[in-house]
Amino acid sequence: MGRDLADVLISEEAIRARLAEIAAEVDAEYAGKDLLLVGVLKGAVMVMADFARALHGPAEMDWMAVSSYGSGTKSSGVVRILKDLDRDVLGRHVLIVEDIIDSGLTLSWLVANLRSRGAASVEVMALLRKPEAAKVAVDVKHVGFDIPNAFVVGYGLDFDERFRNLRVVGTLAEHVYSS
Ligand code: 5GP
Repeated sequence: MGRDLADVLISEEAIRARLAEIAAEVDAEYAGKDLLLVGVLKGAVMVMADFARALHGPAEMDWMAVSSYGSGTKSSGVVRILKDLDRDVLGRHVLIVEDIIDSGLTLSWLVANLRSRGAASVEVMALLRKPEAAKVAVDVKHVGFDIPNAFVVGYGLDFDERFRNLRVVGTLAEHVYSS
């Protein structure tokens, strides 16, 4: 799988260290509050697993699956719920755990959706952010890494369902797209 990467953008160690920093901030912010982490399947699986374990305070987890990308590499702008949360978010302090923010379309829709259900607060933590995201009016409280505008895979992120299990975040070699 290593030969399929053109570049490693973020190493395993860098991800671990940054998640620990964000977890310390989140622990302080939600001290004494009832925190609910909401992950977006499937991309956020790795970041949720590592981030949730980096927290010292208690946190529940719930998951949504939405569609915003097909099997290609362009955002469709259409968000559809494929799997909804298992529990009610009414009165809960929600922290959305996202893999990556590109156009931000998915995220702004998700924040509005959870607010409309009566969550006490809705904040966002995203491991990766691309430059386009700056144009969106969504306030992202915690960002792991700002990355260039390239299609990345690994650490939960896929290309046609492949490469999610890479331990690093990287860009794909040209031959992967043409095969
Ligand atoms: P947005 O709505 O912000 O444009 O896109 C959000 C979703 O698109 C992400 O949660 C992710 O699933 C997918 N996405 C955006 N950029 C990338 C990328 O560079 N690589 C991969 N694998 N998925 C991406």
